[in-house]
Amino acid sequence: MKRLRIRIVGGSLAGLFAGILLQRDGHDVKIYERSSSGLAGRGAGLVGQHDLFRILRAIGCEHVARVGVVAHERIYFNRDGSVGETFRTPQTQISWDFLYSTVASHMAAESYLIGQPVTGVIETLDAAQIIFANDRREDADLVIGADGLGSVVRPLLNGDASNRFAGYVAWRGLIPEPALPQEATILLDRFAFYVASGIHVLGYLVPGPHGETGYGERRYNWVWYRPVAAGDLQNLFTGSDGRTFDYSLPRGALSDERIRMLQADAASTLPPPFVRAIESEPQPSIQGIFDFEAARMISAHTVLIGDAAFVVRPHTAMGVSKAAGDALALRNALLVSDGLSEALDRYEQERLPVGKYIADYGKRLGASAL
Ligand SMILES: Cc1cc2nc3c(=O)[nH]c(=O)nc-3n(C[C@H](O)[C@H](O)[C@H](O)COP(=O)(O)OP(=O)(O)OC[C@H]3O[C@@H](n4cnc5c(N)ncnc54)[C@H](O)[C@@H]3O)c2cc1C
Repeated sequence: MKRLRIRIVGGSLAGLFAGILLQRDGHDVKIYERSSSGLAGRGAGLVGQHDLFRILRAIGCEHVARVGVVAHERIYFNRDGSVGETFRTPQTQISWDFLYSTVASHMAAESYLIGQPVTGVIETLDAAQIIFANDRREDADLVIGADGLGSVVRPLLNGDASNRFAGYVAWRGLIPEPALPQEATILLDRFAFYVASGIHVLGYLVPGPHGETGYGERRYNWVWYRPVAAGDLQNLFTGSDGRTFDYSLPRGALSDERIRMLQADAASTLPPPFVRAIESEPQPSIQGIFDFEAARMISAHTVLIGDAAFVVRPHTAMGVSKAAGDALALRNALLVSDGLSEALDRYEQERLPVGKYIADYGKRLGASAL
């Protein structure tokens, strides 16, 4: 394969994975990331999986997967806070922040351009062209859409590019371990759940933002899935300053009154350790749960990877691993194919069924979660 001019829209994990591998293979690569303030705090902890280990090895930072916090068991609370069931299923959580910052440090800085929102992509006869907010345009042999669930690249390939609301949201908190009060320490070192009709809450420890795993340096991550009517989403995703968001409400955007309502709801429905954990988070966030399955992942000069192609439910814990698998498959297809068209066909044939499989699996888990 000749040296390609590759431009990547989106510089989170999917974009970085692909960018690093393809730059190493000698292609002319640039990543355009909309955010200028950094991506720290986008995720909390993640479970290491096969494709993530493979890509970390390929990039040369496999040590990240070894810096984790082990939850030794799973416990299921009764409503009064007593433990109903215990399962010995050890699982390790890696820090999203540490993974992101380590991976980002392997991308050539001059090729990772932040504060660069892309507004659209078009294809001409022999190239793709990305369009920036100021109408500046740039040609590429290949544009990789790694721009997540609000992808601006997706509509070029898929007639219906909209995400479908799954009927529930995840309220989230991420607190320093020392902030967790004494009455909630049963939550530490284990996965804890409370599941009842219409209620699903869980929590677990993750390393600190720089991969800290010592006692007192870790963070506690809780997630409370709650059903919401689609008509209420706009209100839910409006911050205290009136700013609205399409898919989530970030940390710091909730008014004090809404935080108090959340705490009151927790006190009236959840076991005491989770009530305490929720009270300990001064800035909860809300993530809308959406589904999207691409009918096409490729066109002549454009390809989708990661959440831009398939948005899967968080219960799978596979979003990052799927992004890694996409990047590895795309890189391999470009390596073994004679031309771009053959490579993209090969990539889509391999990854379309995988994306569909994980998306279906996530829907099944979601249906049994609430
Ligand atoms: C709160 C939360 C918790 C999560 N927890 C886990 C977990 O535990 N385990 C797991 O495996 N996965 C988890 N995920 C999912 C995981 O983070 C993603 O699946 C993974 O990062 C791959 O995403 P991505 O890079 O494809 O897209 P994203 O992470 O969504 O990144 C898209 C990037 O594109 C940029 N962008 C968007 N539009 C434009 C534009 N127009 N121009 C330029 N740039 C643009 C965005 O700023 C962003 O940086 C979580 C996600 C969220 C939101």
